[in-house]
Amino acid sequence: MNVPFIDLNNVYELHRNEIDIGIKTVLNSGAFILGKYVGDFEMNISKYIGTSSLGCANGSDSLLLALMAEDIGIGDEVITTPFTFFATAGAISRVGATPVFVDIDPRTFNIDVSKIEKALTKRTKAIIPVHIFGQPAEMDKIMQIAKANNLIVIEDACQAIGSKYKGKMIGTIGDYGCFSFYPTKNLGAFGDAGLISCSNEEKYEKLKSLRVHGSKVKYYHEIIGFNSRLDAIQASVLDILLPYLNENNNKRIKIAEIYDNELSHILDIPYVSSGVVHTYHQYAVLVRDIKDRDLLSQYLTKMEIGNGVYYPLPLHLQKCFNSLGYKEGDFPVAEDIAKRILSLPMYPYLDNDQIDYVINSVNSFFNK
Ligand SMILES: *Cc1c(COP(=O)(O)O)cnc(C)c1O
Repeated sequence: MNVPFIDLNNVYELHRNEIDIGIKTVLNSGAFILGKYVGDFEMNISKYIGTSSLGCANGSDSLLLALMAEDIGIGDEVITTPFTFFATAGAISRVGATPVFVDIDPRTFNIDVSKIEKALTKRTKAIIPVHIFGQPAEMDKIMQIAKANNLIVIEDACQAIGSKYKGKMIGTIGDYGCFSFYPTKNLGAFGDAGLISCSNEEKYEKLKSLRVHGSKVKYYHEIIGFNSRLDAIQASVLDILLPYLNENNNKRIKIAEIYDNELSHILDIPYVSSGVVHTYHQYAVLVRDIKDRDLLSQYLTKMEIGNGVYYPLPLHLQKCFNSLGYKEGDFPVAEDIAKRILSLPMYPYLDNDQIDYVINSVNSFFNK
């Protein structure tokens, strides 16, 4: 048997008719840039998330747009986690600000809120918590620190659309929510696409202007923005897939439950904080003995089971951030997790035989 790490063809196969019609409709209309189909999707996704939301070119840009909307730049510091996809910290550097990393919680892999206050300085302007793998960060504490210190909170919800924290939709708790529709995300387009949610009307208007080179009236520019529009064809695809998102997230949760039950005796399974809905963008386990991670990965690959290490090198140790002056040992939790973590196949279309095959293969590795 062969269990791919992710199977994107399935999405098109399952929705072929609707998607073919949707794309053809856009092609026939000629409304390729913003316009009706982007507007329709923005309306529907805003309803889903519960806050006004604007499409943009990708998730990385949504982070950049949020920072630009707050005029965060040279001389400013932004606190975030070293255990995330590069884009989180990359956006901070791209606006000229300095990423300030804080170690993670060993159970949730999210920013350790007990360590944020020690990282604050006069220059701190914002916190970017990441809801890693679909698990919500500890937002109550983060919002409390932000309020006490007059900081902006930008939620990197790129892996967590549909996740909930104490009944609230992820991306609606901070000042901004940033989402990615990269094809492998829980709601994936057939190319690049992103979204930013923001409940402040003035900032919403600013974001709208920033994504079209800082103009409200065409060819008149009040501020400097860039081109980061959501593509109309991608918007039409997303509008078709959005109604299936909750059902698909629930399927992920069910699969995680099966994995949990069958693997917890040999691996550390994902921890779920109380009061949250975790949507399992990744199902990431920890091996108990560091030596086993690469061996297990190789074994699964040999058994034709897709698997992946997210993330092998925490951001504070990335070459491009050498100038920030971090060194090995600065964030021992993130460094340890990076050596022990492994993601197993996780998507709504995994069938029972595939799930059993993954479970049996992991078990046979440890029973050898
Ligand atoms: C995917 C992702 C992004 C970037 O999204 P793109 O659409 O690929 O630009 C940012 N942050 C996190 C945590 C992500 O997983």
